[in-house]
Amino acid sequence: MKRDCDLALQPQGQSLASRYSGRTVLAIGAHPDDLEIGIGGMLAKLARDGAKVVMVIASVPKDFEVRMAEARRGAEILGCELKLLLDGGPQRLEDVKTCDLVGMLDGIIREREPAAVLTHSNADFHNDHLLIYNACLPTQRLRYFDFFCFHPSMCRPVPTAFHPRVYVDVSDTIDTKMQAIKAHASQFRCRALSTDMYREFAHVQGRLVGVEYAEGLDVMRMLLA
Ligand SMILES: [Zn+2]
Repeated sequence: MKRDCDLALQPQGQSLASRYSGRTVLAIGAHPDDLEIGIGGMLAKLARDGAKVVMVIASVPKDFEVRMAEARRGAEILGCELKLLLDGGPQRLEDVKTCDLVGMLDGIIREREPAAVLTHSNADFHNDHLLIYNACLPTQRLRYFDFFCFHPSMCRPVPTAFHPRVYVDVSDTIDTKMQAIKAHASQFRCRALSTDMYREFAHVQGRLVGVEYAEGLDVMRMLLA
């Protein structure tokens, strides 16, 4: 039985639903699987709680049909809409001019009028992820939206200097996140790579803030009213 003092120590966070329900949230990742790995639990929770969540994938570098099928399945599991930025077949992000990339993202921001945008962080080590981060930065000039960056997404663990400023409790959507990650079989099962580390990592982040599982975000801007 818990004592009163223990109850007083239970974390109390503002619910995602109260901030984003009925509004659009854009999650922008470089490739299929990045968003599931980085913020799959948060996206599932947002969608479940009434936000319109759009997963924007910038490009599919190769194995287009296979990876698009996996991306569609991942988005379906999370309950999100899927949008591919560089459509029409395999394309490499570094072959696209930055101004063109910004122009395409501008178009999505104008069209969707998001309440929040989530993308890669500048602590990432993958050049495509940094290209997307840098292309997202100038879109802030178009309108106000909350702007967050997620932990570097990777298939094989690499140390990074990412420091979360805010945590999302994903205890009740961690299983959905894991299912969505596993939808990307070409990246994991077919390469004999385990997905266990994503659950373990979410568990460690959760323990830092007193919940079972969490995803950490860096805050680029967030308006408190
Ligand atoms: Zn990626």
